[in-house]
Amino acid sequence: MKNLSTTLFIILIGLCLTHTVSSEKCIQYSNPLNQRENRVFDCLMASPSQKRQLPTPPTSDNMFNVQFNCLVDDKVLCGKVENVFVTAGKFITATLNLKSEISVNATFLNFCEVSIAPGIDCNNPYKVILGAAGPAMVIPYKDVSADKVRLYPQALYKQMGLPTHPQFATNEIMAVFNSAANYWFEGDPLPMLERQADMLLVVTHELVHGLGFTTAWDDQFAIGALTPVVATLTDDDSPKAPGPIPKEPGIPVDSFQFFELIFDSFLILTEDGTQMTTQTDELNKFQINLQEIKSEAQLIEAFKASPQFKVAQNLFIKATTNGSMGFKTTSGDVVTLETDLHPFQPSSSIGHVDFATYKSSADFLMVFRSPSATLGQMMGMANSIDTYGPIGPLLREVLQSIGYEIKGQYVPPVDLPSSKIPIPNKEPFSIQPDDANENGKNNNKMTNNGKINSSSNIINVLIALAYILFNFFL
Ligand SMILES: [Zn+2]
Repeated sequence: MKNLSTTLFIILIGLCLTHTVSSEKCIQYSNPLNQRENRVFDCLMASPSQKRQLPTPPTSDNMFNVQFNCLVDDKVLCGKVENVFVTAGKFITATLNLKSEISVNATFLNFCEVSIAPGIDCNNPYKVILGAAGPAMVIPYKDVSADKVRLYPQALYKQMGLPTHPQFATNEIMAVFNSAANYWFEGDPLPMLERQADMLLVVTHELVHGLGFTTAWDDQFAIGALTPVVATLTDDDSPKAPGPIPKEPGIPVDSFQFFELIFDSFLILTEDGTQMTTQTDELNKFQINLQEIKSEAQLIEAFKASPQFKVAQNLFIKATTNGSMGFKTTSGDVVTLETDLHPFQPSSSIGHVDFATYKSSADFLMVFRSPSATLGQMMGMANSIDTYGPIGPLLREVLQSIGYEIKGQYVPPVDLPSSKIPIPNKEPFSIQPDDANENGKNNNKMTNNGKINSSSNIINVLIALAYILFNFFL
């Protein structure tokens, strides 16, 4: 059995504090495919000299600075991938009025040859993780109007230009892309094949996640209960501030709390318009003395026995009920989120726009699946080449709501020749997940082939992976 500190650290995927004081905690991620690989540390205050970090001149047509690590031998391929980041950066820079450079740590590597993402099925060409990205660091910030501390991706936090701030991590965004996937690149002599993925579309999608299109809501305990991320509250800070579970006994910890990312403050239940942050408030009525908790199982049992468990269960049901959750923008528009994946898919559910609603619209970019069409073709289909580019009108509203400034006029920064090639049959998502695996929904088949055989939790996890690995983004 794991010891308590280890166990609780595992469920702690995000945390930090209210004000920029020395005891504040920041969290840095090292693996976009696994948010649990993180480092929690005191948010060090920037020294006066460090505060003089001058942003890249806003006249730049690319505010992204990519530190690219290519771990494959094919130098031509490495060069093509690196160029894609430049193009993606230009598209986003043409859309957002970025005031501070955004540094990206991107790695191109074969997911099947490293242990970066355990459980990946490398033998099925239909089930390929293309890439994953997220904020390299999140920083706590108190939204004064809401009187609530929320976690801000560093990329967004930097845009606020606050006079004082914690020392920033080297990168704002961390991304990995799977070299085992079959990519198509703009400029390739042959048209994109149905089972290829346009690297430019994939990279642009992932960078938008890194900017802050990401949710803290998840089935954190794998018990069919939806909550935001968990952090502890220690009573030696004033005001009380979230921090890691102390590893030394005797350090006072009086409670833990669920924390939202800034994205989550705009989420609603579409049925009646309830703000999901009110559900977070309800969940935070769950309090327990962590000093008395001896095991992960005990913690989970305590939560399951609480009145708040029902709240989390109901939210979990909604997370798999089509059309039940939305992002209400500051303009009042509601963007329907992906809640039609069965079973619930961590990283895919909620954290994307609804596939059926937006797959053929100008807001196609943030659906959970990669289309069998190029970014240019998708924009051509949506008639958005000269109006919105890859970032459609509703996605712009989402990014504006969380704090980015949208440029008043969009000028396409790059001409994509593939945009002039129609999508065959106008169907960019012709491959269906069930085509990829005739047993895709047959749990027993998977059990019988010896890959999984004991814990029901393990079964659920592996089946989830088997499904979402089909032609998808994280
Ligand atoms: Zn995604």
